[in-house]
Amino acid sequence: MTNNPKKAAAFWIGLYLFFVLLPLVLSQLGPVPAPRGFVAEVGIALGFVGLSMMGAQFALTARFPSVAGSLGQDTMLQFHAQAGVIAFLFVLAHPILLIASDPGYLSFFDPRVNAPRAFALSTGMGALLLVVVLPLFRKRLGMAYEWWRFTHGLLAAFVVMVGTAHVVMVGREGGYTSVLWKQAIWVALGVLAIALLLRMRILTPWLTTKKPYRVAENREETDDTRTLVLEAVGHEGMAFKPGQHAWLTLGGTPWTLAQHPFSFSSSATDPKRPAFTIKALGDYTRSLDKVEPGATALLEGPYGAFHHENDPTPNLAFIVGGIGVTPAMSMLRTISARGETRGLVMLYANKTPDRIVFKDELEQMREELDLHLVHVLEDPGELADTTAITEQGLITPDVIEKHAPPADDKSWTYYICGPEPMMNAAEHALLDRGVDPGRIRSERFNIA
Ligand SMILES: Cc1cc2nc3c(=O)[nH]c(=O)nc-3n(C[C@H](O)[C@H](O)[C@H](O)COP(=O)(O)OP(=O)(O)OC[C@H]3O[C@@H](n4cnc5c(N)ncnc54)[C@H](O)[C@@H]3O)c2cc1C
Repeated sequence: MTNNPKKAAAFWIGLYLFFVLLPLVLSQLGPVPAPRGFVAEVGIALGFVGLSMMGAQFALTARFPSVAGSLGQDTMLQFHAQAGVIAFLFVLAHPILLIASDPGYLSFFDPRVNAPRAFALSTGMGALLLVVVLPLFRKRLGMAYEWWRFTHGLLAAFVVMVGTAHVVMVGREGGYTSVLWKQAIWVALGVLAIALLLRMRILTPWLTTKKPYRVAENREETDDTRTLVLEAVGHEGMAFKPGQHAWLTLGGTPWTLAQHPFSFSSSATDPKRPAFTIKALGDYTRSLDKVEPGATALLEGPYGAFHHENDPTPNLAFIVGGIGVTPAMSMLRTISARGETRGLVMLYANKTPDRIVFKDELEQMREELDLHLVHVLEDPGELADTTAITEQGLITPDVIEKHAPPADDKSWTYYICGPEPMMNAAEHALLDRGVDPGRIRSERFNIA
């Protein structure tokens, strides 16, 4: 796979469109039923494309390292969420347009005509509605992320199974899939979608047990942030690129819903001793202070395109906020461990000085590396033991203008990670300054 992000994106988008539009091509091959009028034909086409988009949703969340590595897992998941809504609208339009063209199609939902079919189609549509609507209301309903993710996969698998069965059954009644080979392709694509789900939920977690880790250290960084240092048990660890992340499971069993993504905060030069620095934000992350050294940990990964390994530019400018400092810290520690000489700028936003994670180590790195460090603090209060520059307030275009490298200096790539509003502000400010979008990388921790 190419290292050029634009070419990689074009390749994967092309592959996605190929699979999504494949049913339309298939429908025109072999015997074709008599036309049923424009509205009905559009309804059928939308049904085909909507269903294949639903199937492709499983590939988007399958965490294939080559895809997630070139596009970024957060980008994939954002696309997954948006494509899900479009697929839903297409599938919904399918019965609506067919019934509008001929009310006789209502019989598909009539249990007196065919009870199993009416039940399957009604529950399939209901499940589809839940798949799309639950993510929007999950937080308001107080549903834990882990349970939502589990239910989401099950419901989506059910929708794809009902949809595939519907395509095959309608084909047997003289539709676009009347021949066996077309039915076989649809069944194969449906099975592939379910296989991708099983691979991610069963096979991949099981494989993580082959390379276990032990918690070597669980140390407090700030009031609400801890670092878990792991130690590979009987293997060479996980080779990762600084800035990437892995999914962490604590305890010996991979069969738990509690699997969470965290960026490596340690140097990539020591894959046998990876570390994760974690802010207590919810039930799971708040419970990490109880993890005892010696506990078993499992890691799935590495994933992510937020790293500098393929960048042609030598210099790195970080614009980070809060716990978004972790991938940047991994990059700095790796650069330091490798003895690399690079231009480095870090604008690091926090509310107050006591929230600054890695404050002392960053201070030390200013001595060792060519690091221009700026603490951007909403309430600077007493920022002791540092000679780093301090700005009061938020990361604004003015702060970026003052401390970031010149916009036209193409030797710099920007790495942005932090709270959503900070990331949006930083991205806009850089683009407004005329920084080429190809030199801006972002990692969003909030994926759902
Ligand atoms: C690529 C990436 C890298 C990350 N790196 C770090 C890091 O280095 N340090 C750090 O402190 N945090 C990191 N996070 C965020 C971290 O994953 C969440 O804060 C954590 O999972 C919250 O779990 P919780 O149950 O304590 O909180 P909750 O209150 O249950 O969840 C808060 C939010 O975190 C997300 N989340 C919760 N559970 C999961 C899950 N199982 N999988 C995915 N997302 C989930 C959801 O968006 C949820 O709304 C990263 C996230 C991503 C996507």
